[in-house]
Amino acid sequence: MTEHYKDYVDGRFVEAAASMLDVYNPATQELLARVPESSADTVEEAIAAARKAQGSWEKTPAIQRAGYLRQISAKLRQHRDRLAQIITREQGKVLGLATVEVDFTADYIDYMAEWARRLDGEVLTSDRAGEHIWLMRKPIGVVAGILPWNFPFFLIARKMAPALITGNTIVIKPSEETPINAYEFAKLVAETDLPAGVFNLVCGRGASVGSQLSSHTGVDLITFTGSVPTGIRIMQAAAQNLTRVNLELGGKAPAIVLNDADLDLAAKALVDSRIINTGQVCNCAERVYVQRGVADALAEKLAAKLAATRYGDPIAQPDVDMGPLVNRVGRDKVATMVERARADGAQIVTGGRVVDSAGWHYEPTLITHCTADMEIMRKEIFGPVLPVQIVDDVEEAIALANDSEYGLTSSIFTRDINSAMRAVRDLKFGETYINREHFEAMQGFHAGRRKSGIGGADGKHGLLEFTETHVVYLQT
Ligand code: NAD
Repeated sequence: MTEHYKDYVDGRFVEAAASMLDVYNPATQELLARVPESSADTVEEAIAAARKAQGSWEKTPAIQRAGYLRQISAKLRQHRDRLAQIITREQGKVLGLATVEVDFTADYIDYMAEWARRLDGEVLTSDRAGEHIWLMRKPIGVVAGILPWNFPFFLIARKMAPALITGNTIVIKPSEETPINAYEFAKLVAETDLPAGVFNLVCGRGASVGSQLSSHTGVDLITFTGSVPTGIRIMQAAAQNLTRVNLELGGKAPAIVLNDADLDLAAKALVDSRIINTGQVCNCAERVYVQRGVADALAEKLAAKLAATRYGDPIAQPDVDMGPLVNRVGRDKVATMVERARADGAQIVTGGRVVDSAGWHYEPTLITHCTADMEIMRKEIFGPVLPVQIVDDVEEAIALANDSEYGLTSSIFTRDINSAMRAVRDLKFGETYINREHFEAMQGFHAGRRKSGIGGADGKHGLLEFTETHVVYLQT
């Protein structure tokens, strides 16, 4: 890739670099591109362009806004295979998953476009004679979307599509790890008729471009996906201006496996969940609580599947199940956490080593004999490592699951409807999967409790996060 990337501001590609960032293929450490880090002036221009465009965009009928969104999704479909290759090279996920990411992104944009004819308000009954009251949904204004690297392409759409269909304009800042796919997204947006300034792209590090966006008085809503520490920093910056925030943060998803579970189903679901995107998914199982009666049998099945997982460079070896971690920091963090678990008395059943290769690979790893106080059961790993703790019953499992600073997703494997419903009642998480793992529906609602975030995404409720309510009273 020798492409010369530029920011996309006010419908134009602009050359305005404060410095350059190197982007590497995590499977090979090959330099993919040197991309510009936006200057402070360019960020100002992007916010001003979004502000200028917002007034007329809001007045554009929603059904026309939907038409522009559908032009974008059509472009993504047209370039599907090329985009998937770019995502894999830049981020490291296997090609099959990168293709799913492109497809899901296009479908998500279309799904949000469908809301055009359903952005309804409400009519209320009044206590006063002759009075009419209604609630109107209005856009918030200029949205800043700050993104992580794990689903870099889809997350652009998760921010952009609901923002635009509800009449907001947006400035996107991708992760400095994965800006190339965002530039490719912007290039396709530029080929549509979307009015200038409605979608803008700037790039750069969190400490510079990210913090400029989150402390800017010209931004009305910050929608952020990323880690808890960054979410806290963004909220602190936003608090200075009382800017609204929507925070989708980290997870430590518990999976409960009871004695009556279908163990083959549970083992497959858990291993798939842990190796997808090399374990770098916020809603995938990060800790297992297995009931004593099936602990050995489950461990055996998990170990066999993890040991059979093929990993490597997803471009050179397209049949691998798993690619590398995104960078050295991520790979070293996983290695350090596994070593600490070992030192704390946990047992590494399979895996547990850095792979000697050019990329940031780590072996698929099963850890048993974990206890509740171990770091491996409490902190987000974000790698292909599955730690398991034995419990005596469903109550103990639920109590341990809830004893976490995270509250994003959770799962339970059981054939007993009463145990499943007890978990649904008592698990304090935004989502619970029963006899399956991860993958949210776009019509659902993805939201974390506790430090996993504030607000949520997807579906009607996610859409409403991009609106404000205006109440109108009319006395006749
Ligand atoms: P990160 O927090 O390191 O970075 C995310 C983004 O924030 C990047 O664009 C970065 O440049 C920016 N940033 C960093 N410092 C900033 C600052 N001071 N001000 C403004 N912006 C700043 O996260 P990451 O490593 O890219 O992503 C991994 C994390 O994302 C994991 O914790 C994962 O669980 C989480 N995640 C959550 C969800 C969800 O829906 N809840 C989805 C995907 C990923």
